[in-house]
Amino acid sequence: MFDKILIANRGEIALRILRAAKELGIATVAVYSTADAEAMHVKLADESVCIGPPQARDSYLNIPALLAACEITGADAIHPGYGFLSENARFAEILAEHNIVFIGPKAEHIRIMGDKIEAKRTARRLGIPCVPGSEGGVSDIDEARRIAADIGYPVLVKAAAGGGGRGMKVARTAADLEYAIGAAQTEAKAAFGDDSVYLEKYLEKPRHIEVQILGDGQGRAIHLGERDCSLQRRHQKVLEESPSPALNAEQRMEIGAICARAMADMGYAGAGTIEFLYEDGRFYFIEMNTRIQVEHPVTEMITGIDLVNEQIRIAAGSPLSMRQEDVAFFGHAIECRVNAEHHSTFRPSPGRIAYFHPPGGVGVRVDSAVYQGYTIPPNYDSLVGKLIVHGRTRNEALMRLRRALDEFIVDGIETTLPLFRTLVRNADVQNGLYDIHWLEHFLATGGMDV
Ligand code: ADP
Repeated sequence: MFDKILIANRGEIALRILRAAKELGIATVAVYSTADAEAMHVKLADESVCIGPPQARDSYLNIPALLAACEITGADAIHPGYGFLSENARFAEILAEHNIVFIGPKAEHIRIMGDKIEAKRTARRLGIPCVPGSEGGVSDIDEARRIAADIGYPVLVKAAAGGGGRGMKVARTAADLEYAIGAAQTEAKAAFGDDSVYLEKYLEKPRHIEVQILGDGQGRAIHLGERDCSLQRRHQKVLEESPSPALNAEQRMEIGAICARAMADMGYAGAGTIEFLYEDGRFYFIEMNTRIQVEHPVTEMITGIDLVNEQIRIAAGSPLSMRQEDVAFFGHAIECRVNAEHHSTFRPSPGRIAYFHPPGGVGVRVDSAVYQGYTIPPNYDSLVGKLIVHGRTRNEALMRLRRALDEFIVDGIETTLPLFRTLVRNADVQNGLYDIHWLEHFLATGGMDV
């Protein structure tokens, strides 16, 4: 096992990793930018090293500074959290060259899944169901027309280098196709410096359902069920739950088994998420995230498994701590991502937290790195904290969420708490009747206007 882990991240996920390391008896090193000198992860770690100015490029993404911090403190492993360097294959390789363990999958797997066309090709080869579409990139309009006619309209033109939903255009009919390809190419070129695009069938009303997997890197892998993350705004997840209200136990075990088998065949190491769109009873692979995800706590709540602990143990070469048949699912969990943003305009609201009272009680978990008197810097994401509730049934979880939201007080900044207080009282949300467009539609039709 490792003696000392350096946490190459900030905010709630840095605290999350620190907690797992402490439970394992591993010493922790926090790194921070000058904007984060007063941050909670710095206060709670055993040691801390300042790695640069506020801009992430010069601090949290600064590989030489992170290597120097490992050297100074003698850390033997780095946990990258999510975002920043977590899906940077080159970073994983550089660490290996310096005999520092990257707590995450093999560099080659990060690289494959970071390339959308390659990821889809790999998924298909491993038996994971994919959205019908072009085999690879399309450049020629006649070829594109043929493929689109084959898939059937509407089709979605997507950027191979895509991310954050950019470089995507829908073509409803053959007449729209040439324009959609041109527009997607222009957007992709501007955003990613790469104009390759590919085609997919456009799904009209899908849900976003993702499967959590764990692999030991030596041919064993298990799944920990799914998370439904269909409530999204601008392709960003807002509320996540597990299990999905749309699946039954049989469907869950079937898609889970497909994912676990695929990851075992691949020799995947660590935690990963296979993301699907789900429509009319069918799953369509969209991408794989080769890291811990923001919404991982809902899975932890219903399985009792500490995913970060597993990541650390796997990276240290230990076998998985459980077999598939040892994984038991209990109850229902829901997570709300509370952001420092206005609840209907979504304007960022960094600043000083004058008063902070997180909820508590049975079945309530708050993963947050803020505290009363703390000033949220404007330089990073606007997550104030994640409120996660657990109940024996979905109804119990909703009941608990309602009262936990009412208890939660954050003064001095704007937060999205009012949005969640409205959502938890909405009939569609209560009945689990939503797809990936539901929240945008709700907001666009004045759901949060007062
Ligand atoms: P990105 O990496 O840009 O986030 P994704 O492939 O994950 O790209 O797609 C982003 C979002 O676009 C998805 O979460 C989903 O909302 C939507 N989307 C992607 N593919 C399709 C599709 N074939 N049909 C309908 N919507 C899609």
